[in-house]
Amino acid sequence: MLDNHFKKEEFKKSVKENVKMLYRKTIEEATQEQVFQAVSLAVKDVIIDNWLLTQKQYEKDDPKIVYYLSMEFLMGRALGNNLINLCAYDEVKEALDELGFDLNVIEDQEPDPALGNGGLGRLAACFLDSLTTLGYCAYGCGIRYHYGLFKQKIEDGYQVEVPDNWLKNGYPFELRRPEYAKEVKFGGYVKVEYDPATGRNHFIQEGYQSVLAVPYDMPIVGYNNNVVNTLRIWDAEAINDFRLDLFDKGEYHKAVEQENLAKNIVEVLYPNDNHYAGKELRLKQQYFFISASIQEAIEKFKKTHSDLHDLPKKVAFQLNDTHPTMTVAELMRILVDEENLEWEDAWNITTQTCAYTNHTIMSEALEKWPIELFSRLLPRIYQIIEEINRRFLLEIQQKYPGNQEKIRKMAIIYDGQVKMAHLAIAGGHSVNGVARLHTEILKKQELKDFYEMYPDKFNNKTNGITQRRFLLHGNPLLASWVTEHIGAGWITDLSQLSKLKVYADDKKAQQEFMNIKYQNKVRLAKYILEHNGIEVNPNSIFDVQVKRLHEYKRQLMNILHVMYLYNKIKEHPEMPFYPRTFIFGAKAAAGYRRAKQTIKLINAVADVINNDKSINGKIKVVFIENYRVSNAEMIFAAADVSEQISTASKEASGTGNMKFMLNGAPTIGTMDGANVEIVEEVGAENAFIFGLSSDEVINYENNGGYDPMQYFNNDPDIRNVLMQLINGTYSNGDFNMFREIYDSLLNTNSSDKADTYFILADFKSYAAAQEKVEEAYRDEERWAKMALLNTACAGKFTSDRTIQQYVDEIWHLDKVVIGK
Ligand SMILES: *Cc1c(COP(=O)(O)O)cnc(C)c1O
Repeated sequence: MLDNHFKKEEFKKSVKENVKMLYRKTIEEATQEQVFQAVSLAVKDVIIDNWLLTQKQYEKDDPKIVYYLSMEFLMGRALGNNLINLCAYDEVKEALDELGFDLNVIEDQEPDPALGNGGLGRLAACFLDSLTTLGYCAYGCGIRYHYGLFKQKIEDGYQVEVPDNWLKNGYPFELRRPEYAKEVKFGGYVKVEYDPATGRNHFIQEGYQSVLAVPYDMPIVGYNNNVVNTLRIWDAEAINDFRLDLFDKGEYHKAVEQENLAKNIVEVLYPNDNHYAGKELRLKQQYFFISASIQEAIEKFKKTHSDLHDLPKKVAFQLNDTHPTMTVAELMRILVDEENLEWEDAWNITTQTCAYTNHTIMSEALEKWPIELFSRLLPRIYQIIEEINRRFLLEIQQKYPGNQEKIRKMAIIYDGQVKMAHLAIAGGHSVNGVARLHTEILKKQELKDFYEMYPDKFNNKTNGITQRRFLLHGNPLLASWVTEHIGAGWITDLSQLSKLKVYADDKKAQQEFMNIKYQNKVRLAKYILEHNGIEVNPNSIFDVQVKRLHEYKRQLMNILHVMYLYNKIKEHPEMPFYPRTFIFGAKAAAGYRRAKQTIKLINAVADVINNDKSINGKIKVVFIENYRVSNAEMIFAAADVSEQISTASKEASGTGNMKFMLNGAPTIGTMDGANVEIVEEVGAENAFIFGLSSDEVINYENNGGYDPMQYFNNDPDIRNVLMQLINGTYSNGDFNMFREIYDSLLNTNSSDKADTYFILADFKSYAAAQEKVEEAYRDEERWAKMALLNTACAGKFTSDRTIQQYVDEIWHLDKVVIGK
């Protein structure tokens, strides 16, 4: 692709020119960071041409547009990914070689735009890659947080959060678009004016504060197709100083307040994953980016269409979780208040345009805003939601006359709270879960009443990941090997991976496959030595759990099992044991105590075990600091075993599980989320499944929980491990350091429920599955076959497949071809 635009020599010239223009330096004098900026600008130059071409094509074809609305886009670095999708990676690597620079080192200069927490934000990023590669017209709409997810430092085994000032040196892949700025209003009151001419009431917000939403566009490059879509993230600026002189002197403080509002609103991403905190500023962030995005979408629509009734034919709004649910009310506001449509008309348009993706069933993640806060901050939006609720309750009463229970369970406003999930379901035409099991649980349990009322709205879209980032870029050795065996078609059609199945029993292919895994393990071992100062053996089993730290993901069960193995080795030094390296990587929400204690426990166990010479390095424990997209790519490539051990029913899908599978790491896991479908694809004999089923977990929960004490009392292994939490084994004699974790499992001195994540219930079955892992790994041929089959069977889990299903069943978009 790059060749179409300029040759290697021209690229080199352009880099040198950029260094000169930006820094008044020759390339020999430039720092790596400066070369990164110069290279990025040269690459952006190519992208811009395609960006313009794409725009022209869209103007010509007038395709339907999907707006993917998300508070998070966990993009990861852009430079390498853009080069991959431009099919220019190797040429640019060569060009930089000749200039005396290493592309890998240059890539490492880029900050990792961490505008997301974990799976939900990364899904949004994968979706943009797939939408663009498949040639659909799409905008990602989000927030330009000045500080992304914090950087994690580990000090004395504890997590310390450091601000992530990713914009510090300027970000080369963004473009400020002040011409598309929008005003967003907060607070004040609503004045009602009757208009005798139309016989309608008009609702006017007065006494408000407002903020200017200014978009920054980032190009999303499709793979080898010249399509470039846009991620549009909104920054907040104070409404201009010139307004200052419009104010009376008495309103000066109001101008200052507006300026503060603008300063605060996009300052920082809330670091909670799957957890609702109810912060006022968070509600402001939600309305801020939704109002700006919906205003822009309607404005754009009106440029080429005259009848708003056609909106659903030309526009789809996809809500990534309930965070963007404000869309429903904001669209109603624009249609009714500004465009003067009748309520019923506006409602039909709105529900046909909006669709909602549910990401969790966990009650602590459900967004329920207090009426007081909501109506004070967004008085007109609140009125509109009241009206939506009033009509919705009438609908419920019509269907279930006299049934107060239904009202109580389904109302959008109830008990002093606005329930965002209920609004999202009522206000759209589609509700989807993110893996088959999750969608079934939604229909049968959490959203049963809504499913009974609107069975046709419910559908499943099993998540996926982009193979362009997580294989082609992250694991170049395996990517080349796959291409050598089955051609390059897999890059845009991952189902072709199944052609690898014929190599599952081929000795040579097995050896090559495992040799690549070994080289990737060496690469990771080097990273670990550099970052942790720990030497790990690349011949040991790399057993990896990387994901956000959350109790339901059960990193605690993993580390308790490590403690249990260590006890066994100490007791029976002669016992056969295949060396294992347990690798963790996880950020905990800054205010999540239990999660942070678990990080400390992992590091404390690592300290003791890694320094115990008596076990001859049979176990190593490594906590990789600051887990994020850029190091994730390398970690997946190097993993032998994929830990997917959530309490069944709690992990809606998981996508980390898919990245491991694609990179040839068999899963040890529960029948949860997309693990169910992974096992279905690869076969139960090529995974290590254990633990309670989701039905069993839900059944316990509906019947008052279970009794972890019976495991403590009857199982000496479990008892030993738990006692080590409170006898100082891993805390230099401090009995209290891990007391809370101990209590959370057994709850000896409080009335809270104990072990609500069923760790002790699943422990022995987990340990047994881990023994099976070791047994399988000892048999080199068997393991190579399993690993290879995991890659070969990963085709389903591309986000290309997921996106095509959204297109076919929810969005109904038209494909665009550039230059047609
Ligand atoms: C894929 C990914 C996740 C999600 O992982 P899960 O195991 O599905 O929770 C989180 N963070 C990063 C950086 C990822 O790449």
